[in-house]
Amino acid sequence: MAGLYVHVPFCAAKCIYCDFYSRVRQDFEPYVQAVLREIAERRDELKGVPPTTLYFGGGTPSLLPAEALARIAKALGAAFVRTRPAPTGPLFEEFTIEVNPDDVTADKAAAWRAMGAGRISMGVQSFNDDHLRWMRRRHTAADAAAAFGRLRRTGFDNLSLDLIFGFTGLTDGQWLENIDRALALQPEHISCYQMTGRYADPDEERCRRQYNRLQERLETAGIRQYEISNYARPGFESRHNSGYWARTPYLGFGPGAHSFDGNRCRSWNTPDIDAYLRTRPGGQEQLSDTEVLEEKLMLALRTVRGLDLDSLTPAERACLKQTTLEELSRVGKLIVDAGRIRIPAAELFVSDDIICRLIPASA
Ligand code: SF4
Repeated sequence: MAGLYVHVPFCAAKCIYCDFYSRVRQDFEPYVQAVLREIAERRDELKGVPPTTLYFGGGTPSLLPAEALARIAKALGAAFVRTRPAPTGPLFEEFTIEVNPDDVTADKAAAWRAMGAGRISMGVQSFNDDHLRWMRRRHTAADAAAAFGRLRRTGFDNLSLDLIFGFTGLTDGQWLENIDRALALQPEHISCYQMTGRYADPDEERCRRQYNRLQERLETAGIRQYEISNYARPGFESRHNSGYWARTPYLGFGPGAHSFDGNRCRSWNTPDIDAYLRTRPGGQEQLSDTEVLEEKLMLALRTVRGLDLDSLTPAERACLKQTTLEELSRVGKLIVDAGRIRIPAAELFVSDDIICRLIPASA
């Protein structure tokens, strides 16, 4: 299993909280040509491992003309997909496009479907118009609901919504209303991120409460948590993102995109669109034994299933301090069961602290 990721580094305007790499400009064609060049240059890098997922992220992929996205998707299929998963089926088992509500026209939605996308992840962030204005989003709550309906009518049966909690000024009541407005649309998947940086709510208790309320409400609605920030109806978990947490290989294209060989090598394109258009500078690192173990812990323990201890080498298992495992388990911060370790749902909010205690260097 392997994944393909394309970073589309354009946004109509910058939202106040966002630190993803993107620029407010619209000179799309040179970027598209550079991505096509990168695909051609890297066509042998997966060494025959068939990619099962394709993910257009950003930035705002929906800002790009649909025909430009289609050209890139087609080039990726031609370069990397040698046999289709099913003879007459789509090229990729999962093909996701991140969109913003203000871009979802009926024409674009139809074009995304026609190019083979089956999953749309829509950045809603809030259903409160005051908060949307403050965030400098370019849509209202009603726009988001209308865009969602348009996607459904186009035939998309795998839709995800993004929300943000834990920011200054967000009351518990407003947060519950956001969750209910999202649930009313009946999405298959919801991602919820805690605000970080200067707009983060300093009241840790309130943030934790909002996180726990979210877990409870979504569970009751049949949308199960499968990762710290991700919830899905059974069978609709993001396969692409699950590949990141399982450390399967992926190739990332575009400025700022990262790649991983599934073992020790991580590489990236520098997040600078002008440099990307000229020479595509980037970097590469080989992970040490300790870094590999750290990654395995940090990524697997983000998920509700946790880490299969059999996936560790004997040397890695020896590095895990039995006393720390026992102590965390005794205080209810870790479940050790049937050859797996996992963080209980009630403690996922503080998972970083728990994981840090397990990492050999900091144990
Ligand atoms: S549209 Fe998305 S990527 Fe662009 S600035 Fe806003 S949150 Fe960031």
